[in-house]
Amino acid sequence: MSGTFELRGKRVFVAGHRGMVGSAVVRRLASEDCEVLTAGRDELDLLDQQGVRRWMADRRPDAVVMAAAKVGGILANDTYPVDFLQDNLVMQTNVVDSAFRNDVGKLLFLGSSCIYPKLAPQPIPEDALLTGPLEPTNEWYAIAKIAGLKLCQAYRRQHGVDYISAMPTNLYGPGDNFDLTSSHVVPALMRKAHQLKLQGGKALSVWGSGKPMREFLHVDDAADAMVWLLKNYSGDSHVNVGSGEDITIADLARTIVSVVGAEATITFDATKPDGTPRKLMDVSRLFATGWRPRYGLSDGLEQTYGWFLRHIDKGDIRLGAA
Ligand code: GDP
Repeated sequence: MSGTFELRGKRVFVAGHRGMVGSAVVRRLASEDCEVLTAGRDELDLLDQQGVRRWMADRRPDAVVMAAAKVGGILANDTYPVDFLQDNLVMQTNVVDSAFRNDVGKLLFLGSSCIYPKLAPQPIPEDALLTGPLEPTNEWYAIAKIAGLKLCQAYRRQHGVDYISAMPTNLYGPGDNFDLTSSHVVPALMRKAHQLKLQGGKALSVWGSGKPMREFLHVDDAADAMVWLLKNYSGDSHVNVGSGEDITIADLARTIVSVVGAEATITFDATKPDGTPRKLMDVSRLFATGWRPRYGLSDGLEQTYGWFLRHIDKGDIRLGAA
């Protein structure tokens, strides 16, 4: 770790502020003495190069957090490979290029743990990047994210600007997608357990064998780590952002049942895929800077369920079909 960036008095553009991660970064920046800039889709189309250049020239941020991306689950990735590859390449290139043209001194690019090879060593160190083939179902998204972090490295090398990248693990929390057809495991099981509680059902159906292991991080912790890196990290390598601990899907399901207060037994649906057996990030680089997450998994799930309960009737949670 080297170099510090003072946020006080700065203008920080958060691209993608309506997404789960971007909105958490905006919440976190509220406790910094800086001005947060955001732009709705009607005001700024990140796919439009001229529009992004104009917006950046007009608003002149001092720092940029690139949290905008075309994201989705395994099915969406497989069905819309052009959108996942091309839209992400275009959006991120527009943002990084326009930032540089308008003298933005600090930029944080957000990626994902799917940039790593399918068979990476566990826990996955940053230097496992590009050492083997990717998981084929999300390689479109992964290739775009790899190009994004390489672009930041290239700008550092060629132009000496402080553009850095963070690769978060599986995130959950307020603002997540609770649509069972496209959601990740935490919101899916939380919603299913909630429905069982309301309807008095007894069996929580968990996809696959329950044996795969996953690492989870509350999105507010992820946002905290990102602001921490923005302020304290300056380096060529991307940085893994995670909790450093993983859990089996079966244990996760038990924890969610208890947090929700559903009296359910867990059943395993072998017709659904397990996915990769384990995906734990090596977070020693991040932890060596002194950063630690605040939420344990149970606390984080409780906070998320509280948010879910407060919002379920307001119509602002992404639920899709029941
Ligand atoms: P992944 O980390 O990319 O595999 O994404 P997911 O969060 O979608 O899945 C993580 C693990 O949870 C996989 O082994 C899934 O099979 C398992 N899982 C169990 N129940 C569910 C469910 O209801 N929805 C989802 N998405 N995954 C589930």
